[in-house]
Amino acid sequence: MDPGRQTAISDCVSKGQVLFDEPLSRYTSYGIGGPAEAFFQPGDREELARILKLASQETIPVTVMGSGSNCLVSDTGVPGIVISLADRLNNFHIEGGRVTAGAGVALGCLVRQCLQAGLAGVENLVGIPGTIGGALVMNARAFGGEISTCLDRVRTLTGDGKEQVYRREDLQFGYRSSSFRPDEIIMEAEFHFKAGSPETIADLQQQFLNERKARQPLKQRSAGSVFKNPAPDVAAGTLIDKAGLKGTRRGDAGISAKHANFIINCGQATAEDIAFLIKLAARTVKQQFGAQLELEIRTLGFQPGYWEDAGLDG
Ligand SMILES: Cc1cc2nc3c(=O)[nH]c(=O)nc-3n(C[C@H](O)[C@H](O)[C@H](O)COP(=O)(O)OP(=O)(O)OC[C@H]3O[C@@H](n4cnc5c(N)ncnc54)[C@H](O)[C@@H]3O)c2cc1C
Repeated sequence: MDPGRQTAISDCVSKGQVLFDEPLSRYTSYGIGGPAEAFFQPGDREELARILKLASQETIPVTVMGSGSNCLVSDTGVPGIVISLADRLNNFHIEGGRVTAGAGVALGCLVRQCLQAGLAGVENLVGIPGTIGGALVMNARAFGGEISTCLDRVRTLTGDGKEQVYRREDLQFGYRSSSFRPDEIIMEAEFHFKAGSPETIADLQQQFLNERKARQPLKQRSAGSVFKNPAPDVAAGTLIDKAGLKGTRRGDAGISAKHANFIINCGQATAEDIAFLIKLAARTVKQQFGAQLELEIRTLGFQPGYWEDAGLDG
């Protein structure tokens, strides 16, 4: 990024932080990813709006990240400004059954606070990493429960820094999808929960955590499930397993022997290593079973068309 642009960005930031050529491997659950040209952690909403306005005026590309637990970032990094909201915009307020949470609050914090307050509705999401913003964009879901069920309202900033408020009924949520526009940044959400017995909620949470531990390779770095399930009764992991790919390695990347839809970083894997296994799995499943897999994870910083040879949209 040229020094003039760096100065213009730095001039917008006083409460937060901006770092140039910052490795994104520090901010993803994979521990993988090249540098962001500018890596911005906003101090408050006004600063975020200022940066968005500048980016829009100067046509600087903007990418938003929560805690990077559903992202594969390329080894060459991401051009423009990467806005990281993990632990930023982290206001949190509970009153009765209503909760207001900033986009950068950890989903785990919401789950924990609801347990403490005896509020039921998000216990199924225990153990899912990430932020409230990421959970809403991805419509985080587990064990039959999803984040959008308890949602009332969402406050966003559009690409040019304007604020927008949505009621739940203005939004659509699907399987790991939502109707937020790609240039929209979630800033805050309001939820409602019903009263529940803390003992019952705690028991359910423990049950869900045990199931996660039994089924998922939680000791290795990953971004969770790589592919969406092709149908409600057809798991992508089962197809990859049946194709004989469990345990396949490429460098330090591997298709987990525990859960074939998890492609893990066993040490110093690169994004190219992970991408190789993603493409191998997609091509092999297509050849053997005729099913075209679709990516669940979001890919950042890859060249247009990079995923096409495996029939994937990156
Ligand atoms: C071990 C493991 C287990 C997992 N299990 C599950 C599971 O059971 N169920 C499930 O649904 N997911 C699961 N995931 C995936 C992931 O944790 C969720 O998708 C999570 O909600 C992503 O949140 P994040 O903050 O990390 O988002 P990121 O990965 O940082 O971003 C995901 C997407 O959301 C966008 N985004 C993030 N924040 C904002 C914002 N404030 N405004 C606008 N856009 C934003 C990003 O641009 C990106 O497109 C798992 C991941 C891991 C590593």
